[in-house]
Amino acid sequence: MSTKQRGRPPGKSTVSKIDVTVELSRCQNCGSTDRTPYEGTTQQECQGTRTDPATGREIAFTKIVRRRTCCKACGQARIDRTYEK
Ligand SMILES: [Zn+2]
Repeated sequence: MSTKQRGRPPGKSTVSKIDVTVELSRCQNCGSTDRTPYEGTTQQECQGTRTDPATGREIAFTKIVRRRTCCKACGQARIDRTYEK
């Protein structure tokens, strides 16, 4: 009889819920948060950590997602970035 049946079975890690940090998207030109729907999403595989400005804690991410959008107030185009894992 084997006595190796202890702890968590290998290869089955706990699935953590998806944690996406989205900073408030704001126009750099006029400060408005009113924007058009995102279009043209590009993803970049990129592993690293960043400091969450809200909590000051380090957050690990595995990809950077860029989304194009436009300010509804002044028409300034910009790209919003989110860090996802
Ligand atoms: Zn604007």
